[in-house]
Amino acid sequence: MPLIMTPSLPLPSPDPLRRCVSCRGLFPRSQLWRVIRIAGSEDITLDQGMGRSAYLCRQADCLQHARRKQRFSQALKTSVPSQVYDELEQRLNPKLLLS
Ligand SMILES: [Zn+2]
Repeated sequence: MPLIMTPSLPLPSPDPLRRCVSCRGLFPRSQLWRVIRIAGSEDITLDQGMGRSAYLCRQADCLQHARRKQRFSQALKTSVPSQVYDELEQRLNPKLLLS
């Protein structure tokens, strides 16, 4: 039996599915906001960082629901300051920055 050489396929792009903490839908990670609780601390950061992560759709509905239900606090098991939600709100509505 001839040895079949598997061609070395390029790795799939690193865009795994992640679950939105608000609507529970699965989406490619690149389409979600990422909120991170820095490992070993209570600090919360956005986008980049090592630690426990929570993801949210880039939609006003999901953001509002997440804020009302404190979804990030639940997912990250620490209190998430309202500035985090404010920051995401401003990304949705850049005009708010002008006020
Ligand atoms: Zn969502």
